[in-house]
Amino acid sequence: MLQIKNLTKVYPDGTVALKNVSFEVPDGEFLIVIGLSGSGKSTLLRCINRLINPTEGEIIWNGIDLSKLEGEDLRKARRKIGMIFQNFNLVKRSSVFSNVMSGRLGYSRTIPSMFGQFSKDDIEMGRKVVERLGITSQMHKRADELSGGQQQRVGIARALMQEPELILADEPVASLDPVLAHSILKTLETLNQEDGLTVICSLHYLDLVQRYGTSVVGLREGEVVYRGSREDVRKMT
Ligand code: ADP
Ligand code: ADP
Repeated sequence: MLQIKNLTKVYPDGTVALKNVSFEVPDGEFLIVIGLSGSGKSTLLRCINRLINPTEGEIIWNGIDLSKLEGEDLRKARRKIGMIFQNFNLVKRSSVFSNVMSGRLGYSRTIPSMFGQFSKDDIEMGRKVVERLGITSQMHKRADELSGGQQQRVGIARALMQEPELILADEPVASLDPVLAHSILKTLETLNQEDGLTVICSLHYLDLVQRYGTSVVGLREGEVVYRGSREDVRKMT
C-alpha cells in the first residue's frame, strides 16, 4: 500500500506544483494519473521516488515514510521502485543491453563497462528480460538507433532489472504514436496483471485513460480533483 498524505511541493522559484495531495494506492493497482500539462503529474511521480524532495507531507510505502529516508535506506527503498520516463532517459551511445543491465545498478547515471560488473545470473536475467520485451534482435545496437517505441521497451526492461515492486511511469507514451502507445500500455498492463506489480502511470489523453488502469487520480493545478474508476472519469471535466 502506498499512501500519499498532504503532499505539497513548492519549487525554489515559488511555483506551487502540488497542493496538499492525498490518496492511497493499494498493492496490485494500475493507477492512472491524469491531468493537463503543468498539473503536477511529473512532480508527483518524482516526489514518490525522491528524484526531488517534497516540501511537506508524507509518502508512506509499506509502512515506511519515503519522504524522510536518506542515504543507504533511501537507496534500498528506491531499488524496489522502477521509473519509466517520457523521453526514455537512456544512455544513447551505449548498447541496448548495457542500458538494460544498468537497471541492476540502481540509479547510477553512467554506464560502467559491462565486464566484471555482473554475475552470470544477472546476465541471464538480462537476456530473459530483453526477450520478454521483444528487443533481443536489437540488444547489441546503440540505444539511439532504436525507434521510440523500442527505446521505451528498453526503459521498461531496465526498470524490470531492479526487480521492482512498484513502477512509476511518467507519461511513458507521450512521444509515441497511438499504435506504439497502446503496445507500451499493454505491456504495463501485463506487468500489473501477470507479475502483480503496482503501476502508477501518468497520461494526458482521456481516451487512453478509459482503456487502461484499474483506477484514476485526476490532478488540476496541483490538486486532486478526481479519485475513482476509469469509467466515471469524464465527470471530472
Ligand atoms: P506535468 O507533469 O503535469 O506537466 P509538472 O509536475 O511538470 O506537471 O509541473 C507542475 C508545475 O510545476 C508547472 O507549473 C511547472 O512549470 C512547474 N515546475 C516543474 N518543474 C519545475 C522546476 N524545476 N522549477 C520550477 N517549477 C517547476
Ligand atoms: P514535462 O513535459 O515532463 O512536464 P517540462 O518540459 O515541463 O517536462 O520540464 C522539463 C524540465 O524542466 C523538468 O526537469 C522540469 O522540472 C523543469 N521545469 C519545468 N517547468 C519549470 C519551471 N517553471 N522552472 C524551472 N524548471 C522547470
